[in-house]
Amino acid sequence: MEPGTAVKTEEAFQLSDRVNRINESPTMVVLQAAAALKAKGVDVADFGAGEPDFPTPEHIKRAAIQALDENRTKYTPVPGLPELRKAICEWHAKELGSSYQPAECVVNVGGKHSIFNSICALINPGDEVVIPAPYWVSYPDIVKYAGGIPVILETTEADNFVMRASALEKLITSRTRMVIADSPSNPSGAVIPPDEYAKVLAVCQRKGVWLLADECYSHFTYGDAKPFSIASVPGSKSALIIVGSFSKTFAMTGWRLGYVLAPKPLVDAVTKLQSQSTSNPTSIAQYAGIAAMGGPMDGVATMLAEYARRRERIVKGLRAISGVTCTAPQGAFYVFPNISAHYKAEMPDDMAVSRLLLEREHVAVVPGVAFGAPGHLRISYATSMDRIDEGLLRMGRFFGKAK
Ligand code: PLP
Repeated sequence: MEPGTAVKTEEAFQLSDRVNRINESPTMVVLQAAAALKAKGVDVADFGAGEPDFPTPEHIKRAAIQALDENRTKYTPVPGLPELRKAICEWHAKELGSSYQPAECVVNVGGKHSIFNSICALINPGDEVVIPAPYWVSYPDIVKYAGGIPVILETTEADNFVMRASALEKLITSRTRMVIADSPSNPSGAVIPPDEYAKVLAVCQRKGVWLLADECYSHFTYGDAKPFSIASVPGSKSALIIVGSFSKTFAMTGWRLGYVLAPKPLVDAVTKLQSQSTSNPTSIAQYAGIAAMGGPMDGVATMLAEYARRRERIVKGLRAISGVTCTAPQGAFYVFPNISAHYKAEMPDDMAVSRLLLEREHVAVVPGVAFGAPGHLRISYATSMDRIDEGLLRMGRFFGKAK
């Protein structure tokens, strides 16, 4: 038989080692279970989603519609439209105090793609990448895909899940190539204080390793925490890879637009990789991106004010449930309560807790184990106050009975 003509059974598939090393995103699994219940007409209080529940601001949508009307629907340069790269550098300088030139910027198909491309451009088999836990689910899998070894840096609830330079230093070996910092963090909402962040950078510089700073949630900070980029520290650029995203800041998750700011040789390598995979991000999304970067920021302020109200309500509500502890997140739109005091025979871990919570009370959350932090649940408050109140009622009932 001609090669490739046989009908393959599932076992006969010889998938690549690269693909076999990674797992499907566990957050997707929960979202799918919740979606299946909703499809049956069940009223699910859904705290699984990691995306703003606000529409994309009007001026951004208009720019895409105009681009469509004017037939600006052709290929663009692989690293993005020159106007967009310039607009990103200007926005980042204005909002976060950096000093990048367009040649140090490449636009990708979402922040996840920016992280994927950067890691694939830098990590060789056997290279170690330090990832603080709780971590965003995709970091370890992307590192493994590239052949690297994720080295997990544990943070503590008592220290608000903040990554500490002293703990980082102990984990760095001769194989370490990169450290990932995610501030504000998904899932914990932790914000690394600027002085601690500068110490983390100093460790990376001293040890000659890259610091990949994921700034996806940069503009969602509460209380004393303010939007901050480690790129604003003088002399930081040579060790630094900044990853930014339009998804959360401008409520543009479906548009798929993110970027890397980094030294030119790395930006060129990411561009080369992209030239052989996705090519440019969607042209009309890029025109929308130019409008986002150059336009008013009041949509962000409106979202932030609403997230702040919800954050207060949900932290208070969770803390009122006996046996649940909850740090106050300093950023993003997630809370990460510890529910391990409620473990018992029928629910011995956070995976079982989230499964039973969905089955019995129709509340969708993501178990902490997915983020390398068992004992917790990730609850997204990118949902209405009504749903938050309903969810708190149901969780109170669930854990009340569970005691
Ligand atoms: N980084 C973090 C910490 C995230 O939570 C996400 C999305 O949830 C991303 C990066 C990627 O976002 P996107 O690919 O939509 O830009």
